[in-house]
Amino acid sequence: MKERNYPCVEINLKHLKHNVEEVNRRCNEQGIEMIGVIKGATGLPLIAKQYIDGGAKMIASSRLEQIEDCIEFGIKAKYMCLRVPMLSEVDEVIRLTEYSLNSELKVLRALNHAAKGQNKKHNVILMADLGDLREGFWDKEEMVDVALLVENEMDNLILSGVGTNLGCYGSIVPTPDKLEELIEIAEKIETKIERKLEYISGGATTSLMRVWDGNMPERINMLRVGEGVILGRDLELFFGYDMSSLYKDVLMLKAEIIEIKDKPSHPIGEIAVDAFGQRPNYTDRGIRKRALIGIGKVDYGNPFELVPLEEGIEILGASSDHTILDIEENVNNLNVGDVLEFKVCYAIMVYVTNSRNVKIFYID
Ligand SMILES: *Cc1c(COP(=O)(O)O)cnc(C)c1O
Repeated sequence: MKERNYPCVEINLKHLKHNVEEVNRRCNEQGIEMIGVIKGATGLPLIAKQYIDGGAKMIASSRLEQIEDCIEFGIKAKYMCLRVPMLSEVDEVIRLTEYSLNSELKVLRALNHAAKGQNKKHNVILMADLGDLREGFWDKEEMVDVALLVENEMDNLILSGVGTNLGCYGSIVPTPDKLEELIEIAEKIETKIERKLEYISGGATTSLMRVWDGNMPERINMLRVGEGVILGRDLELFFGYDMSSLYKDVLMLKAEIIEIKDKPSHPIGEIAVDAFGQRPNYTDRGIRKRALIGIGKVDYGNPFELVPLEEGIEILGASSDHTILDIEENVNNLNVGDVLEFKVCYAIMVYVTNSRNVKIFYID
């Protein structure tokens, strides 16, 4: 194995590819195309490659730099811009992607103009907000009107379909009823344009619930999936779904112990605020054995979302560059220089793959 520097993330490409194949197969069985979302792992091109090798046809990100990296890396795929575009990036959206999600007429006109300038046809999916309250048309009549404008007046845009996003801000569950609302909008548009839409895009990882349950409404034919493939964690943890057919160790975080000492558990002296201006509560449990590891909030955000692989390790807290662990209950006689391994959640994955201090290694 290659020499490691710490902290690092190790990404198991074989396990990732397995997860892609498994989710893709289940989606395809139900007439659904799975789009590979890479933004959760900061768009690493080798992650995009596993999506493609595992059967996905399209790669999606909210960030165009990540898409550009994948193209430069040589990943041949269709690309989708997930975040409704900024007016200031429409030229790049057209240059780098074949599809984008949209919710503003002004942006659509700008995209059309940019596409004309680059002599391209660009596919757009109009987003409906079904109550999650992030992006998307709230007024569905307005949405139908805009669809008609795209169809009839914007020569360099192709109205590909409609979509929705659920569970990201408003924590709304993609129930069959919710998704039926989207299909209703699609069919209203189809009646007016007198043709079928290419895609009805029914959401992200949370919509995999419908695939697992086998009750996805008939016409939903696209899901945009990131977390559910890379980590396979949320649906099991928060919704009780059986995700045992997926590997949970695709992305692991490793950090090195830099100090081990017995210390009091309650700070000594006048207590004010910590490095981030917070006033935590400290419980006095007497003298405890503690370890410091060389990674901190700058690298991963919230220390309490780290899950140590070894037993008998408790996260006490962190500052920018240090994480403090209680290892009193650990039986493995840990030493300075030892490396501890952690499972990650979505937020931790986003941060650590995006931190210059955290090296990335691939296992294949
Ligand atoms: C991030 C994102 C996704 C994928 O989300 P996951 O939960 O990682 O599957 C899908 N659609 C949109 C619009 C997104 O922004």
